[in-house]
Amino acid sequence: MNILFATSEATPFCKTGGLGDVCGALPRELAKLGHGVTIVLPAFRQAREAGVPIEPTGVYVEAPIGQKHVRGHLLRSRLPHSTVDVVLVEQDHFYDRPHLYRVEGEDYRDNCERFTFFCRAALEAIPKLGLAVDAVHCHDWTAGLIPAYIKTLYGAHQPWRGLVSLLTIHNLAYQGNFWHWDMALTGLDWKYFNWRQMEFYGNLSFLKTGIVFADALTTVSPTYAREILSSPLGAGMEGALQRRQADLHGIINGVDYDVWNPAVDRYLGDRRYGQHDYAAGKAACKQQLQRRLHLPQRPDAPLLAAISRLADQKGFDLIVRVMRHWAERVDAQWVVLGTGEPKYHEALSLLAVEFPDRVAVRLEFSDELAHQIEAGADIFVMPSAYEPCGLNQLYSLRYGTVPVVRATGGLADTVVNATEETLAAGTATGFSFEDYTSLALAEALDRAVRAYQHKPVWAQLIETGMRQDWSWRHSAEQYVRLYEQTVRRGPVEALG
Ligand code: ADP
Repeated sequence: MNILFATSEATPFCKTGGLGDVCGALPRELAKLGHGVTIVLPAFRQAREAGVPIEPTGVYVEAPIGQKHVRGHLLRSRLPHSTVDVVLVEQDHFYDRPHLYRVEGEDYRDNCERFTFFCRAALEAIPKLGLAVDAVHCHDWTAGLIPAYIKTLYGAHQPWRGLVSLLTIHNLAYQGNFWHWDMALTGLDWKYFNWRQMEFYGNLSFLKTGIVFADALTTVSPTYAREILSSPLGAGMEGALQRRQADLHGIINGVDYDVWNPAVDRYLGDRRYGQHDYAAGKAACKQQLQRRLHLPQRPDAPLLAAISRLADQKGFDLIVRVMRHWAERVDAQWVVLGTGEPKYHEALSLLAVEFPDRVAVRLEFSDELAHQIEAGADIFVMPSAYEPCGLNQLYSLRYGTVPVVRATGGLADTVVNATEETLAAGTATGFSFEDYTSLALAEALDRAVRAYQHKPVWAQLIETGMRQDWSWRHSAEQYVRLYEQTVRRGPVEALG
């Protein structure tokens, strides 16, 4: 099977979140399974400065964008340690900028043009580079027009005739909506600008377009795939998604265990630990973490952690409320690593100043500290309002850091709540709660801390969690089955 990945992020070239992780890891895993994968990316400044060798091909693509004719140069690279080819669309006016999508809290004003061109360039690259492609796998709104182009302007001609497309939604909250006159930039007939196809409450929506025109849809966990079929998590797209329900699949993201694994973690030095001998290594990591954070070095005090974008989605309003209550009353320590909304920077900094023996806050992005927290903490706190998949709970399981999560999206699919039954069955891996309230979070944390004090139960939770296998292999196999099924069925008629 030959798959073209159309995405605006892929590690190590460029990344702003989970999308980059997935598009860097899944192609490599597909290639290991014997499939041909080419990734097409915009040649963002970040990608060109990533330190991976990139070469010019001398091949150009052209596309009309409204009244303009835009030309791009195709560059070629390789996903490190793999056989995956990477094609980068060089168009400096669009992509040679300090950020990918937005600057100082404002989206770039020409995002519609930038990603319309990207969608067309990805399709133009197929014949120009002679790429063998059985299916185009599009990711998020930035590639959302591709399925529509295949079904309209391009699909009547070779080599695009009969080509199938899949769209993966990594987070439905990012929709690529633009004012209606931008429709003229796409070159697509205005007849598609209607509420059943490309229009979304008066705007042109790239994501909705992808949902309507792709031959198959996926999102990054089975529970999120169900949740987005209704309000509020459908974010207004629930109607379009319901109409595509038969073609919508939930496939959980995997973890790169070469990077996120306490047995090989390069940030842990001689404190690395494995599944069967974690106790001493984990205790040393905790001590080192407490030292680094200037918290009292107490092996017995439960250490609770959160590493995250500081955003409403991640449940920080609940965390801040519970932290204050607990810092006053409960003998536990907290560490938060994150950057994001100023209101959370403020509230967390205040807590760290008021309770220096119980609260440590680092308002920065640090991969090193993230690894050391995963290793040194006892409990990982993730009370998300919604969570398409979530990665940190999966890292926590492997590091023997027991997750406390809200039962939503990928969190519900990957953490088994500790109850009498699941403990007896040996399946419990953490604690989960339903209601999005600080009371429900506090109750779940309370259960976790009580279990922490009961050593055999805690050891069982840690060991069961560390044994879980969330590697990419399983998920990549599910994608392969879906590619095969989609290609076999051929293009489906777009909803009209
Ligand atoms: P999302 O993609 O919604 O931000 P995920 O849990 O899927 O959330 O992935 C977030 C990734 O970013 C994880 O790898 C997490 O460790 C990392 N991360 C988030 N904030 C920070 C930070 N301040 N420092 C280091 N890593 C961070």
